[in-house]
Amino acid sequence: MDLGSGVAPLGGAVLKFIYNGLPARVVFGAGSRSQLPAELERLGAKRALLLSTPEQKDSVEKISETLGSRCAGIYDKAAMHVPLEIAEDARRVARELGADCCVTVGGGSTTGLGKAIALTSTMPILAVPTTYAGSEMTPIYGLTEGGAKKTGRDVKVLPKAVIYDPELTLSLPAALSASSGMNAIAHSVEALYAQDANPVISLMAEEGIRALAHALPLVVQEPENISFRSEALYGAWLCGIALGSAGMALHHKLCHVLGGSFNLPHAETHSIVLPHAARYNYDATRDAMARVERALGSSPAPVALFDLESRLPIPRKLSEIGLKETDLERAARIATETPYPNPRKVEYAPVLELLRNAYHGARP
Ligand code: NAD
Repeated sequence: MDLGSGVAPLGGAVLKFIYNGLPARVVFGAGSRSQLPAELERLGAKRALLLSTPEQKDSVEKISETLGSRCAGIYDKAAMHVPLEIAEDARRVARELGADCCVTVGGGSTTGLGKAIALTSTMPILAVPTTYAGSEMTPIYGLTEGGAKKTGRDVKVLPKAVIYDPELTLSLPAALSASSGMNAIAHSVEALYAQDANPVISLMAEEGIRALAHALPLVVQEPENISFRSEALYGAWLCGIALGSAGMALHHKLCHVLGGSFNLPHAETHSIVLPHAARYNYDATRDAMARVERALGSSPAPVALFDLESRLPIPRKLSEIGLKETDLERAARIATETPYPNPRKVEYAPVLELLRNAYHGARP
């Protein structure tokens, strides 16, 4: 066992780790969006700017009606990967409206826009997530300029409060629910073997994987079942904590390269790459993989992840979501030039093989 990596063992070893917990206030439960006025009051916010994507404007308008004069306005232009020009426009609108708080209602794209505003102001974020992406539990932000996405970490962008209302996820289409849930599972799988892995986060990561793996096939069968939605959102919360506290490795690096340089869709890319990244790291992370296997009730972990996905309506091949076979070598080169810390050495030839397998949807 590699104690230096901080991987939490299943038992019987001497532990060595650093735990750096992040502050979080979470209000969880069906109907909990009704707590929004009280949560704004708690933050001392009097003029909240509500953020959403154009597609979710109607649902945000309904929420704004419950706020009365506490709603300064709605900005509904949030877009994937937070384009800088949209961030700057939203910052301007927030200033002009005299907003003193951002309420983000949506997935990672909307939360990301709130983070961009918080980064350059003193405004707190109150997040109301409606997907399983987990951004609301992390101090990680991203901004895209001229086609290049830059990410950073700053505790300033961590939401001061998060309202998880599973009723708001009932409208998330089955396919998006499935890929978004696998995106969350990927956070936890990597948190189990990341450089900053520690026993507290590993407990949450394992439970997050278990909850999502149980709930996602049921959500797909019955998207409007609130108890399945509730379990999935609970899992997503735990996986978000895992991402925020324990960091990332090869899998996230590959997804950032495929999203950033090849414009592949975020959640689907995570879903497709995950079993292959788990295979790449399998022999170097047996304790972490044992936890994944326990959470999924099946082994080996890469195959168990692949088989879970076979029960979900998600693409299985990078070739299906816009990558060209001629892009594989460039993707492998970019991913191996400046790798994230990873338990197994990141090398061009095996990473190319990983990508080739993900491109063809091979069983790992
Ligand atoms: P998203 O926020 O882009 O949403 C995808 C689509 O689903 C949008 O059209 C949105 O309006 C719609 N949608 C969201 N919730 C809905 C609902 N309940 N009902 C109906 N439609 C709904 O997707 P995402 O996967 O949540 O976020 C992806 C982005 O988040 C990426 O840019 C990614 O990099 C970022 N992200 C950041 C972090 C972080 O820690 N900073 C973590 C995860 C993801």
